[in-house]
Amino acid sequence: MRPEILYPFFAETVSLPGVGGRIAQLLEKVVGRRVLDLFWHFPVDVIDRRNSPKLGEIRHDQMVTVEVEIGAHDAPPPKTRRPYRVWCHDGTAQMQLVFFHAKGDYIRRQLPEGEKRLISGRVEIFNGQLQMSHPDYMVTADKRDDIPAIEPVYPLTAGISGRVMGRIVRAALDRAVDLPEWLDPALKKREGWPDWHEALLAVHQPANAGELDPSCKTRRRLSYDEFLANQLALALIRRQSKKKKGRALNTEGPLVRQLVENLPYDLTNSQKQCIAEINADLADPSSMMRLLQGDVGSGKTVVALISMLAAVQSGAQAALLAPTEILARQHYDSLMEMIDGLNIRIAVLTGRDKGKAREKLLADLASGEIDILVGTHALFQKDVVYHDLALAVIDEQHRFGVEQRMALAAKGTPGQGMDILAMTATPIPRTLTLTAYGDMDVSRLTEKPPGRLPVDTRTISLNRLDEVVRSLHRALEGGARIYWICPLVEESEKSDLAAAEDRFAQLSQIFGGRVGLVHGKMKGPEKDKVMAAFAKGELDILVATTVIEVGVNVPEATVMVIEHAERFGLAQLHQLRGRVGRGSGKSVCLLLYGNLGSETARARMKIMRETEDGFLIAEEDLRLRGAGELLGTRQSGMPDFKVASLEFHSNLIPIARDDAKLILETDPDLVNERGKALRVLLYLMEQDEGIRYLRSG
Ligand code: ADP
Ligand code: MG
Repeated sequence: MRPEILYPFFAETVSLPGVGGRIAQLLEKVVGRRVLDLFWHFPVDVIDRRNSPKLGEIRHDQMVTVEVEIGAHDAPPPKTRRPYRVWCHDGTAQMQLVFFHAKGDYIRRQLPEGEKRLISGRVEIFNGQLQMSHPDYMVTADKRDDIPAIEPVYPLTAGISGRVMGRIVRAALDRAVDLPEWLDPALKKREGWPDWHEALLAVHQPANAGELDPSCKTRRRLSYDEFLANQLALALIRRQSKKKKGRALNTEGPLVRQLVENLPYDLTNSQKQCIAEINADLADPSSMMRLLQGDVGSGKTVVALISMLAAVQSGAQAALLAPTEILARQHYDSLMEMIDGLNIRIAVLTGRDKGKAREKLLADLASGEIDILVGTHALFQKDVVYHDLALAVIDEQHRFGVEQRMALAAKGTPGQGMDILAMTATPIPRTLTLTAYGDMDVSRLTEKPPGRLPVDTRTISLNRLDEVVRSLHRALEGGARIYWICPLVEESEKSDLAAAEDRFAQLSQIFGGRVGLVHGKMKGPEKDKVMAAFAKGELDILVATTVIEVGVNVPEATVMVIEHAERFGLAQLHQLRGRVGRGSGKSVCLLLYGNLGSETARARMKIMRETEDGFLIAEEDLRLRGAGELLGTRQSGMPDFKVASLEFHSNLIPIARDDAKLILETDPDLVNERGKALRVLLYLMEQDEGIRYLRSG
């Protein structure tokens, strides 16, 4: 139950003075439906209205508050588009107030000729004449206090003016009350952080532009609150899932032994380490919730297979869930190859399987004849019944929602519990792992299988496109297959589809019919067809927007061209480059850049040339990332933070993690005074799922 003190925070915005149905609707689109959504709607700028020069002193455009006497009105003749103009002066110079689409009556009432007014707004010099369009404030001298000296500026919202937004946020803040302190007093003191309420008000009342800095104390405090709520909720969920009963699987049985003997290679130390960590979980009678993180090509599949064999040799079944049809079939093929000689049965099930064949498969699954089932979402459809599912492996786990993971988990045998192994090829920095996957244990494949040739990465100016195309001729003669990635499109340009189509047409002209195109607007089967043609070698060049599926394996592809590489984040560049260098051939990655104006872009290109270590690249990515470039992390399932910015505040995450851990050690059910305050925090930050796992909830 949400604490009563928070009720007003969760009221609808319509309940605020000055917010009617129409405004509430507009607000909902950009800010949210509830009062507290406005709390997190932070100003992005400030307007300083303290500048009060004489009109005669004004030499350039600026924000001013001036005391003037109103002069003549110059009303436009009816039915013309001319603005309404009002003259005013202060004895040193004249200024013209300009109103477009004005109601004359209103202006005459507001600005009677001969009276004094305080006017605040942006004055501009136009043909040597001072003029101000639509002043922000026009008040009588006794209402000086109605004009704020410093005014926060909120992100623009279609249909709601800055002034109105300011008023609405102020009305919301009037509902905010001081809350019991949930911070550790020592931490609060060390950091010099204000109380929550004080911090919230201060963020919305910046005294100058400096106070908009994300690193200022008020914003850091609120960001910390958010991380703490996040870490505490994850810790609660994790504690709960650890308590859940699972089953002890046999990890030492004959199938695993035989597989390892049959493998044409030795496992890397990293693989051995991860397998040991997973086995410890599998052998334990509580249920496993573990993430296997490892770059493309680091050998996750065999690790997954070994875990699945543990389930099979324990007399149960395993399932491997992949995000796409192509990936599911690719997994199926490689698993089939690996289990050659083992007496087990693997099957594949996707949305494409229908009719009799599907019925037969489902019957074999229910009777336990199928040991391992690979597939897409089809794996957890209603009529799919397992004989005894003990382990689910989820590949590219961030591509699945929580409900989907739950639906799969629900396929386990009632009362038996189920183990889950999630996998991702998106390496994310350690600190961020805490917030994205804090509810899981993490194993990392940091080492690549030996014998892999490094990808020769070069950066080349787009001006040299002709040379690049010529070099492709040579590569094709040598039997290469080529990916050509079209750029992310900037706002001013046409759509990325159009750009890709142009490039496709151009390359087709040069290289003939062996060029293919895939893009995001294509339907699944259509896309699959082109990808398959490329995989089979019927196409030599694949032009693509960034839709190439992570994990798709075409070992013969040895050239990756990325156009306007400077527009991609490091994580993305790394993922794209991971498509090549998978076979025995020597691979190249050509990063074509348009404009390396920014230092960040240059730094990214340099890192790409220097390393292929995904974990290192992820750390650098976080360090370099400019605001608004969160694409890479968004893809990897990072939660969206309302207040905190990963760019500026991620160093608070480990502190929050340790804090949360200590809290649950000393007050496991959040019942002491700080514990109660922390419950309020969890509700405030809408991280309250964890609360139902507390003994006194
Ligand atoms: P990931 O799924 O992590 O991208 P894969 O499991 O597809 O990587 O493995 C990539 C390639 O490396 C596969 O061809 C696989 O057979 C091979 N491989 C895996 N482990 C080893 C190893 N220890 N030694 C040599 N090759 C390996
Ligand atoms: Mg894989």
